[in-house]
Amino acid sequence: MTQLHVHDKATRELIGAVTIARREDAADAVRRARDAFASWREVPVVERARLLFRYADALERRREELALSVSRENGKTIADARAEVRRGIEAVEFACGMPSLMMGDALPDVARGIDSVSTRYPLGVCIGITPFNFPAMIPLWMFPIAIGAGNTFVLKPSPQTPLTSELLLTIAGECGFPEGIFNVVHGGAETAESLIEHPDVAAVSFVGSSNAARAVQERAVRAHKRVQALGGAKNYLIVMPDAVNPATCDAVMSASFGGAGQRCLAGSVVVAVGDAGDALAPMLVDAAAELRLGRGADDGIEMGPVVSDEALARIDGYVQRARDAGVRVLLAPRSVPAGGAFASPVIFDLVDPRSELARDEIFGPVMAIVRAQSLDEAIAIANSSRYGNASSIFTRDGRSAREFASRIEVGMVGINVGIAAPMAFFPFGGIKDSIFGDLRCHGKDAIVFYTQQRVVITRWPS
Ligand code: NAD
Repeated sequence: MTQLHVHDKATRELIGAVTIARREDAADAVRRARDAFASWREVPVVERARLLFRYADALERRREELALSVSRENGKTIADARAEVRRGIEAVEFACGMPSLMMGDALPDVARGIDSVSTRYPLGVCIGITPFNFPAMIPLWMFPIAIGAGNTFVLKPSPQTPLTSELLLTIAGECGFPEGIFNVVHGGAETAESLIEHPDVAAVSFVGSSNAARAVQERAVRAHKRVQALGGAKNYLIVMPDAVNPATCDAVMSASFGGAGQRCLAGSVVVAVGDAGDALAPMLVDAAAELRLGRGADDGIEMGPVVSDEALARIDGYVQRARDAGVRVLLAPRSVPAGGAFASPVIFDLVDPRSELARDEIFGPVMAIVRAQSLDEAIAIANSSRYGNASSIFTRDGRSAREFASRIEVGMVGINVGIAAPMAFFPFGGIKDSIFGDLRCHGKDAIVFYTQQRVVITRWPS
């Protein structure tokens, strides 16, 4: 059996190990989930919800332990990790409303003597394939809702951050999750592929990079599975001249550099309209120059390392190529702490909106400032992206905000909000290459995704 060793991303200290699932181990997990489904689907929805109430309560009590696990295996700051765990618990709280969420519709006398009702039923075994950047929150977007709806679940977390999933599984066991309804297997793309193709799997939830999302959707569709595959992103933050102030600077800083830029909602391109850039750029440079890098779990640290040496090399490659091409550097890389794969914040100005710096998902702390003459031009720049996850505008003018919200081509829109992350009660997801499949994660989309609808038409002849 091959072990996957997990290291603290800031210190490289060994913090745990998991076993990589062979094809037969993944099939075993699906079999356990399939066997458990037969009885789990019969458990009344109020009892399923009661289990989720217990789970939410247990997660709440072990919030700090979960946050520390996230911070250590991912590298993000403890404050970011706590916020992630909070968002994850909210998804469980949402799932606790399953008795109302799963309700159907009824229409008596739809024709003479005929009544119609539509009802929702679980699908069977659902799987989740998740990325490294939110080791607690993204699994929690998936399995509590699927399980609350009466499905059983197999989770395959990122091989870069598998330990938090194990903790989520342990807590589920302690809360009395019946055997087999929630399973975790480890591995990379190969393990994921064997799960997707398994004939007993009914639905596939995926979150990760766009190329993988596209491949997952294609594979799942070929195997006739229901699939939602959320992909990568490049998010544009439009700053109007009337909104250059410290609050905007703080919001942009957090959107660009939070999680060391490793977020699908990272606002990595700032589109400064008119003369906004002249005043905003120095504010951003001053703030970014002072960000304290270090071990995310330590007090006062504002940015941890990126996830791996490979990720660091990719980020450095973008920075080096831009410098070689003569792009104006406002904040150059500086010396970084020893230990993990640290990348310091870098800011480029007057970036060509067609360049790779402005278009590729770099997934690191690299900000590109693009200048635009008008809101129209700024929206056109953002809409030319292959991605469509999120975008924000900073303005004090309602008309500009309204115009932006109606014309920007993304799934999540922020108005004076840097990270346009919907809470668990609304769906999370983008458009274009940021999603493959129709239904998004959490919110009502998740209820539709994890259930099949049935319409019953009844006549009782006299
Ligand atoms: P990744 O695509 O490398 O891996 C994600 C998961 O997919 C992992 O579990 C991995 O083992 C698995 N995987 C990789 N290739 C696969 C394939 N061909 N078939 C099946 N499974 C495969 O992503 P990552 O580096 O872990 O995470 C970062 C990416 O995730 C970024 O692109 C980021 O934008 C995206 N992301 C998107 C959202 C969103 O809501 N749209 C949220 C978080 C992260």
